[in-house]
Amino acid sequence: MLPDDSHIHTPLCRHARGEVSQYRDAARRLGLRGICFTDHAPAPCGYDPKNRMALDQFESYRLMVTDLQSKNGPAVRFGIEADYYPGCENFLPAWLADQDFDMVIGAVHFIDNWGFDDPDEHTVWKTVNVEDAWRRYFEIVTEMVTTGMYDVVAHLDLPKKFGYRPRDAETREMAAPVLDAVAGSGMAVEINTSGLRRPAKEIYPSQLLLDMAAERGIPICFGSDAHDPADAANGFKEAVKSACDAGYAEWVRYENRSSVKIPLEPV
Ligand code: ZN
Ligand code: FE
Ligand code: FE
Ligand code: ZN
Repeated sequence: MLPDDSHIHTPLCRHARGEVSQYRDAARRLGLRGICFTDHAPAPCGYDPKNRMALDQFESYRLMVTDLQSKNGPAVRFGIEADYYPGCENFLPAWLADQDFDMVIGAVHFIDNWGFDDPDEHTVWKTVNVEDAWRRYFEIVTEMVTTGMYDVVAHLDLPKKFGYRPRDAETREMAAPVLDAVAGSGMAVEINTSGLRRPAKEIYPSQLLLDMAAERGIPICFGSDAHDPADAANGFKEAVKSACDAGYAEWVRYENRSSVKIPLEPV
């Protein structure tokens, strides 16, 4: 049986399609035991408004997801993908603590003011030093991890999305301190299959980084990052294979912000 899909969006973020019930139904057809909705968190300070719900839409998000929970399986859990960005400490810690989330995914989508994974800003990659950009990205991820606000690190090597990446030796050296921080924090890393649908044509994180996570005993969860019901659990067989190759024998899902370990079944 495939692992739960713990990274699913809804149209409230302004760049996804489909009803929450369609995501649930897609997961049911695939035989999944559970899914977790993790739409992009509101940011009342005005950070990246085109990609997220407004704060006053949050209650409809909560009801949309929790109303599905009373129906027949798969289990539907309630989460959020919360960006780490300058100034988020004025909002996120108190706000996250006030909600009844099962899981909070931490994500970095900006390197300073550059939306490096935004298709509208991808040409900037041609003008920067790729290795320096990755270094800065990993610095920001390390800061995010040390805040203690999140349960899971999203798409760990997201800067590869458009195909710009350092050589393996550099990647290994610059990622080691990040993964040490993740291991120290108790957070999990997600195996996010959306990279398969991007120019990178590769799961986040790469096998190299997943092997490094496994060496440190960092737990894993699985997410499609679906913004369309057709993408629910997309690429999960490949993701499970990658996890098995790294030596993983279990994955985690989150309930009430606590992780539950489940044996990983090879596919
Ligand atoms: Zn999104
Ligand atoms: Fe993301
Ligand atoms: Fe996402
Ligand atoms: Zn995402």
